[in-house]
Amino acid sequence: MNLFSNSTHQSLLIAGPCSAETADQLHQTANELMLHTKPNLLRAGVWKPRTRPGEFEGVGIPALGWLKEAGLKHGVPVCTEVANAQHVEAALKAGIDVLWIGARTTVNPFSVQEIADALQGVKIPIMIKNPVNPDIALWLGAMERLNRAGIEQLAGIHRGFTHYGRSSFRNEPMWDIAIRFKQELPQTPLICDPSHIAGKRELLALVAQRALDLDYQGLMIESHVNPDQAWTDAKQQVTPENLAGILGSLVSRKPTTDSPSLQQALDALRSQIDQIDEKIMHAMAERMQVVAQIGSYKRQHGVTILQVNRWDEMVKKRSHMGDALGLYPGFTRKMLEIIHAESIRR
Ligand code: PEP
Ligand code: MN
Repeated sequence: MNLFSNSTHQSLLIAGPCSAETADQLHQTANELMLHTKPNLLRAGVWKPRTRPGEFEGVGIPALGWLKEAGLKHGVPVCTEVANAQHVEAALKAGIDVLWIGARTTVNPFSVQEIADALQGVKIPIMIKNPVNPDIALWLGAMERLNRAGIEQLAGIHRGFTHYGRSSFRNEPMWDIAIRFKQELPQTPLICDPSHIAGKRELLALVAQRALDLDYQGLMIESHVNPDQAWTDAKQQVTPENLAGILGSLVSRKPTTDSPSLQQALDALRSQIDQIDEKIMHAMAERMQVVAQIGSYKRQHGVTILQVNRWDEMVKKRSHMGDALGLYPGFTRKMLEIIHAESIRR
């Protein structure tokens, strides 16, 4: 099965319930999904990693049969989450077409390696969710382990990162980490999972649109015939019909343009940016030279490197300036922190 081969710049849709609950629920959901959205891949979790014990932890092996049957009946390949070698073995035996490694498993290199070993010599597509913590190295490391096991069809799934404190998202998207993933593995398809980022159905379209704008290769969205009654992740699931509505509302933009006049305009603006960046680099180098002078005076006269008052005053002044210039306050702050950290290092 060549799932990802043609997926560059064309969106792959993975849809299905968070969990396989009953054979009926799975068949009805698959039926309606095929009617409304025709996903490329039907998903359902049969082993559910739950934060606290005593919640629904998935049906396990019998649900693999339901999933496979639903896929065969509706002519769609199926996928499920695996977290250890036994899961891999059972899923392969049941003929599941594609497997994914969940966020709570990607954090653990022992588990990832165990899965990689169980997949040695098996030619099926594998998708790896980002780890729950914002650590790109763990995510890339997991990709590498599967790649070394001979898995050629690999994709990443961006499902957001755990955070502490208030947020509109269930899992912070931290888009810059996903962008880094694309830079590190430009040939590997990246799929967005708006369901686990958003945590609520109202935000699905917004997250999915952002993913398309960042040129992701696909979306994995949870869909259930009766979302409010879902046994897991009820708030973020949508009916297949509503999923079709969300997908219909998305605007798909291309990474390049075939219009020569637009290309010309873009090239002109890009050369302006190149010139501005050059000025910024020169100004920064000049600033660091002055910093070095200050540093040597301070050293000669036994003065500490960091003077908190001066730093506070500077942040205040520059923040006002940034506001007046229309810069986003969080950006001004971040930029000053990076410059200050480098100045102290010097
Ligand atoms: C899921 O896909 O239902 C799931 C458990 O996802 P995650 O690993 O992203 O939490
Ligand atoms: Mn879920």
